[in-house]
Amino acid sequence: MALEQFRIDGKVALVTGGNRGIGFAIAKLFAEAGAKLMLTSRRRTPQLDELLDANPERCAWVEADLIDPKAPDAIVKETLKAFGRLDILVNNAGVAADGDFHDFDDERLAFIMDTNLIAPFRVARAAIKPMLEQGGGTIVNIGSISADVANDPQKQVAYNSSKAAVHQMTKVMAFEYGGRNIRVNALAPGYVISDMTAGGIAKPDWNRIWTENTPMGRFAHPDEMANCALFLASPASSYVTGAILTADGGYTTH
Ligand code: NDP
Repeated sequence: MALEQFRIDGKVALVTGGNRGIGFAIAKLFAEAGAKLMLTSRRRTPQLDELLDANPERCAWVEADLIDPKAPDAIVKETLKAFGRLDILVNNAGVAADGDFHDFDDERLAFIMDTNLIAPFRVARAAIKPMLEQGGGTIVNIGSISADVANDPQKQVAYNSSKAAVHQMTKVMAFEYGGRNIRVNALAPGYVISDMTAGGIAKPDWNRIWTENTPMGRFAHPDEMANCALFLASPASSYVTGAILTADGGYTTH
């Protein structure tokens, strides 16, 4: 059955930043596809509460500020405590900050790198251990087209660098664990409607540049990213590892 390949019934998925934006869209779709979910974020949102209330036995949430070095181990531990195993990790939480390279101070540099690179590294490191014990698993890191292009018109050197590192981490992890039934892939979105891009979308000049540079001429909806994440997390992508799945409306074609 073709569509059965996209089901993840009974699989346990940990999604960071599952309260809003792309992470929430992934959480919602994974719940529909049959997964048990551990969602993490710093704060709750009404849509998160609704998802948790609708699926009390299958969906749980734990508060975590992923800048805290102890948080990654703690959220994996919570997942194992709640559901007894961990099959799918989606490293989604992330932040962006604007600023010229020559003015980008250490504090902001550390904030971006700690959130976008060090935290996903630590979460994946913690998640790999139970996956190895279980004999398999799959990891989806949310990267970005910002790994490959200079953001325009916003200047975001730390963000771009952090996402390039996430793509490389993805490939190296796929290489290391390919023989142990753990697939590791990244999703590289283009411009997606979310809180992260709301400020830019509201600025007519940024909005025009972003849409003009996107051959499809529009922003993505978070649900379109969730579809890609489900493909990477599910048996539908059983021979895909070390891949960077670009979903950018054609932004990086030129
Ligand atoms: P949002 O700003 O809408 O959401 C960010 C998410 O990350 C929230 O769930 C937030 O949780 C969580 N988060 C941020 N910092 C921390 C932290 N220190 N500890 C725990 N959780 C944290 O962003 P998007 O949904 O747009 O982005 C999701 C991912 O997709 C990011 O990795 C982003 O870089 C990437 N991406 C986004 C694109 C876009 O156009 N939107 C394009 C390409 C990639 P809380 O609410 O608790 O702060």
